Amino acid sequence: MMDKLLFLDDEPLILTSLEHLFEDDYEVFATTCAETALRLSQQHDIAVILCDERMPGLSGHEFLERVKEVSTATRVMISGYADLNAVTAAVNDGKIFAYVSKPWDPLALKATVHGAVVQFKLVEEIDQERELLRALMENIPDLIYFKDRDSRFTRVNQAHAQALGAKHSAECVGKSDADYFDSPDAARWRSEEQEIVTSGQPLVDRVELLRNARGASQWMSTTKVAMLDRSGRVSGIAGISRDISDRKHAEEELQRAKASAESANRAKSEFLTAMSHEIRTPMNAILGMADLLSMSSLQEQQRDYVRIFQNAGAHLLDLINDLLDIARVESGRVELESIGFDLKALLDKVIGILAPRARERGLDLTLEISPEVPMGLGGDPNRLRQILINLIGNALKFTELGSVTLRVEPDRGFIKVGVPAREARAAIGLRFSVVDTGIGIPAAKTKIIFDSFTQADSSTTREYGGTGLGLAISKGLVELMGGRIGCTSEPGKGSTFFFVAPFDIHEGLHKDMKDVKKAEHTQPAASAIELAKPAESQPVIRILVVDDSEDNLVLTTAYLSDSGFELDFAENGKVAVEKTMLGNPDLVLMDLQMPVMDGLAATRAIRQSEAKTRRYPVPILALTAHATREEMGKSLEAGCSEHLTKPIKQATLLDAISRHLNGKNRIAPSPSA
Ligand code: ADP
Repeated sequence: MMDKLLFLDDEPLILTSLEHLFEDDYEVFATTCAETALRLSQQHDIAVILCDERMPGLSGHEFLERVKEVSTATRVMISGYADLNAVTAAVNDGKIFAYVSKPWDPLALKATVHGAVVQFKLVEEIDQERELLRALMENIPDLIYFKDRDSRFTRVNQAHAQALGAKHSAECVGKSDADYFDSPDAARWRSEEQEIVTSGQPLVDRVELLRNARGASQWMSTTKVAMLDRSGRVSGIAGISRDISDRKHAEEELQRAKASAESANRAKSEFLTAMSHEIRTPMNAILGMADLLSMSSLQEQQRDYVRIFQNAGAHLLDLINDLLDIARVESGRVELESIGFDLKALLDKVIGILAPRARERGLDLTLEISPEVPMGLGGDPNRLRQILINLIGNALKFTELGSVTLRVEPDRGFIKVGVPAREARAAIGLRFSVVDTGIGIPAAKTKIIFDSFTQADSSTTREYGGTGLGLAISKGLVELMGGRIGCTSEPGKGSTFFFVAPFDIHEGLHKDMKDVKKAEHTQPAASAIELAKPAESQPVIRILVVDDSEDNLVLTTAYLSDSGFELDFAENGKVAVEKTMLGNPDLVLMDLQMPVMDGLAATRAIRQSEAKTRRYPVPILALTAHATREEMGKSLEAGCSEHLTKPIKQATLLDAISRHLNGKNRIAPSPSA
């Protein structure tokens, strides 16, 4: 589209010559009448108006003033003679773009008109940009403002004017925050703006609570930046503030919901911990008595009954342990150990524990270790053992025919993240795979079985028992180790459960471990210990048994009855402290949770009193239904020599007593061991 020109002159001949000069390059409108010129200017998007200065009835200056109201065209004046001062002033004031004198040089006139068209386009572009900026500023709900170097408003948008309580944005120009806000706030903003002016550094997304002009509180996010002039000097500040009350409320809601979920989870795991303690206490009596019963002379049928009783008890204990574990995994309260261990010994032990079950089911259980796997590792051996026993236990449970294989190999793709390169070199990713030839799992279930209380077969007619906790616990533990767990399976053919986890490599540990193992072999195994009855000439060994449960006292008495110890009893911590200090026993078996004074407080009191009276510390074995490592830490911290958990086997108790009494050379394992 051609640019449009409008000529206004009272001489038709001049108009004709102008038309001829420009009609090839522009769309030209020409008229001798000022009113017509005004109408044409209004109707058409005229780029340049050329107007004679002297016309009858209306001067060129008057016309150009009027045309400004209806058109943004660039204005050029033509005149034969003129008041040069007036024309120069008009050009300088921006009232007209240029002045052309008659008679004109056609080329010079063309150049002037071309320049005027360029000017028109530039102005139009700037106007458009200004309009965009205006539309943005006035329609956006955010508060936008510009300030000079002295923190006075030079421009604010309508939203900000309203927030300040002003009717029009123009009212705010020249004022500062101090005119609208409490002085401490205004002073703080002024000083932060001065900082921006001095440093040129922006302030980004500062969140603060503000009271607006209507007195309502709003959670605002503000960003302020320095504006630079052409010479790079800071000329002022541009700021934008956004009301983020809704977002903040949503965040608070989320925080509240999270806190309440966490507290519910904590309550759940505290409940489970307490329940597990409550269940373990009678279980100690049940399992202990069953063990004692099984060692007495029984008829074959009675022996079978006791075995059922023992199996059911052991199963119940597994269940309690699983519940306790899942509660701790889900509430993020599991802490992993990082100690050196011998992988081969651990794997042999795992296979040894599960081999009888495999034999019973007629399955082959094999172990394949890649030669590249280092045996001296650092990590949490107990948790690793727990995961392996769970996966292999499942494989044995869900396989009717064939084999179960545990395979261990390095996983080169595994990189321990977040570890400095030096340490990472000493770390290795290991892949453990448990491959079975069992019933398999449908593809749709291979992910959900890792959720707690979820099983592949959820029907009431399912064939295999279980709680659906084992895999959830294993997943939690593997992830805590920094690894991942998964499974692949083909229904009817078998499954492979695998996990990959990082371990530290302990050079030389393997050799050390072998030495330790050799040493271990020269020691009697726990179950092989038979305590020698003290010879007549030896002083009698006195053990103080502290427990508030009548059943457990009976059990402990039964466990220790054949060992020749002299037993004394205390039903709570207070009595235990008195009896220890007065009776001077050789060893104390201390329950922890008791009325009047608990076992931890009693142990502390005994240790303090020993220190005061410079007495040799008596071995105190905590014997408690609290099974967590946290509780173990607490009892050792209070001064207990060892922490034993109920339900406890007779052999384990005798072994522990023997170890602690050995220190005093009072008793030796029997030569038969
Ligand atoms: P549980 O064995 O007590 O049910 P788990 O969490 O250990 O709980 O396992 C969840 C479910 O995953 C099982 O009930 C079973 O459906 C499926 N599953 C686990 N291991 C295997 C396996 N080796 N073969 C087939 N199914 C398995």
